[in-house]
Amino acid sequence: MTEFFADAEASFNDARFIFYGYPFEGTACFRKGTAKAPDEIRRHSYNFETYLMELGIDLSDVALNDYGNLELTKDQGKNESLVTDLVTKIVNGGKFPIGLGGEHSLTPPAVKAVQAKYPNLVVVILDAHLDFRVEYENNPRSHATVTRRVSEIVGAGQVCSIGTRSVSRAEISEARGIGLKFIESGWTELREYLADLIDDLDGPVYLSLDMDAIDPAFAPGVGTPEPFGMTPYEVIQTINFFADRIVGFDCVEVCPPYDNGNTSALAARLTRHLVGAIWQTQQRFK
Ligand code: MN
Ligand code: MN
Repeated sequence: MTEFFADAEASFNDARFIFYGYPFEGTACFRKGTAKAPDEIRRHSYNFETYLMELGIDLSDVALNDYGNLELTKDQGKNESLVTDLVTKIVNGGKFPIGLGGEHSLTPPAVKAVQAKYPNLVVVILDAHLDFRVEYENNPRSHATVTRRVSEIVGAGQVCSIGTRSVSRAEISEARGIGLKFIESGWTELREYLADLIDDLDGPVYLSLDMDAIDPAFAPGVGTPEPFGMTPYEVIQTINFFADRIVGFDCVEVCPPYDNGNTSALAARLTRHLVGAIWQTQQRFK
């Protein structure tokens, strides 16, 4: 790691929000390079003002810490333990974990730690893909199995995917059979669905942002781009709808070698908005 996420100047003990990097791309199936994303997102975070105009919040008033990157190997079992151990330490300290991927396989071990602290945890996943395969290329820890693993941890009724537009036939029929909630991108007024969703899902929320949920016009630098995606404003809307309940977050799947810089910048800016929105709505973080 060359530099911390912008404004993450507090110590671990003093901070309310803890960033950590997950520079892993071991199961990426199409374009490689997402292991470089945590440092690229950090680099682009310096582009922005500390003041968030849309919220009236200045991030220099918020205690942020950047733990750095996890020391990962090819052993995904060990990597998962590193994620779970760190996120457990963060949430048990009353702090908010922010994972910077790396590929989406970051999410299940993070959710496992957050769910241990909040047993009625709801997981909202923004993703072009349903990621509901039981395994992919014989690997149950693939980035294509994330929603499946998460639903095994918190229960399928506690999971909702948003931005869905790419599934296998087997995935969609199983997801429908199990009653997994998902909102297709593009065809709906998202706001109406979000309002229903909030009534449906009670409890604290872990939000996982797979950047390929966003249309490739806005976020071209991802591992597996899918047309017909969400706008950045819809992501902001989703964050704002759940802001008073979000207890953990990750931003994954940025792929710098295929980026013109704008995807890392968008990831950094959306993450900054999320911190500000949570700071504004959740008294416990003040
Ligand atoms: Mn994904
Ligand atoms: Mn995806």
